[in-house]
Amino acid sequence: MLKRYLLAPGPTPVPPEVLLSMAMPMIHHRAPDFLPILDSAKKGLQWLFQAKGDVLILCSTGTGGMVGAVNNFFNPGDKALVVNGGKFGERWTKICQAYGLKVEEVTVEWGYAVKPEAVEAALKKDPDIKAVFVQATETSTGVYHDIEGLGKVVRNFENTLFIVDAISALVAQDLKTDEWGVDIMIGGSQKGLMLPPGLAFVSVSEKAWKRNETSKMPRFYFNFKKERENLAKNQTNFTSAVTLIIGLNEAIKILQKEGLENVFGRHAKLAHATREAVKALGLGIYSKESPSNSVTAIEAPEGIDGQLIYKKLREKYGITGAGGQDRAKGKIFRLAHLGYADTFDVITGIAALEMVLKELGHSVTLGKGVAAAQEVLMQ
Ligand SMILES: *Cc1c(COP(=O)(O)O)cnc(C)c1O
Repeated sequence: MLKRYLLAPGPTPVPPEVLLSMAMPMIHHRAPDFLPILDSAKKGLQWLFQAKGDVLILCSTGTGGMVGAVNNFFNPGDKALVVNGGKFGERWTKICQAYGLKVEEVTVEWGYAVKPEAVEAALKKDPDIKAVFVQATETSTGVYHDIEGLGKVVRNFENTLFIVDAISALVAQDLKTDEWGVDIMIGGSQKGLMLPPGLAFVSVSEKAWKRNETSKMPRFYFNFKKERENLAKNQTNFTSAVTLIIGLNEAIKILQKEGLENVFGRHAKLAHATREAVKALGLGIYSKESPSNSVTAIEAPEGIDGQLIYKKLREKYGITGAGGQDRAKGKIFRLAHLGYADTFDVITGIAALEMVLKELGHSVTLGKGVAAAQEVLMQ
């Protein structure tokens, strides 16, 4: 037998309490018994997003939330500034272009974080830019972009919305939506929220709702104004993802019991321990600055294919991490510490990594990475 461990940056493991909560018989999404469930989910998300305004709940993957953030607030020909420092930055560009926006990019070398000054310079040069799109965590490179710093820049531009894909960052990073001036922030169920895939969450600021009134793009399924009206009545526009929303309440309950500061602290510690272990094994961290608390991107040793490490971890030891994407394919592999993750997820991943590296002919002292992780985890 091979016991399976999920250490991917989404989907992530689902706690047993959450799984059990989703095993109850189906209830009707317009019936009175569902309304308090949605009300509770709504409030829980506001707590998690650190946002006073509505957080819409969409039945889609995270990308659906990203699409809605484009086709509910703009008109074809509008100018958008996209921070592109990896695969998901690239996705913003593709979505914006699909809807006829004129995209200008601030390109960031893979493995590096955007400089808020670079965004400021681009906005000063072209005051016609209607929005800045960025990832909080660029999952493909394991880099966290400075959302607070970017918020300070964008808030000075009256006609510019600040739109953040926090799908892999939410829960792992402290993201103060209101305080930092984020107009639209997007989350997804299968990352930090410890749920199966299928829900997207989108917070919308008053500034963004004003913009919504002037946006004439075609929309039907992702109609945020209608979602907002329904949310006020503890409903969704179409059939609610009843089961997942019940699970969401259970997941939020777990997070609330731990407390936001502790949740962020736990992720920071797991990420730190992972990085120390990787360094102790003589491997490099792909994120040259601002490594994220969600996922660690690790450089494969010289002469060893990163995809092979990923494959061996999975096939021989039952550990599903992630490989590299696009230009990083073969060069890196990734281990997540996101959501329902704790001390022994890190230890397990690192111990298996040592065994795989040794099998692939890399010189390692077994236990060296584990010991380095333990030192951090015991603090
Ligand atoms: C996972 C992820 C997404 C969305 O992926 P879906 O498959 O649509 O849920 C978007 N952005 C980032 C940064 C991600 O990590």
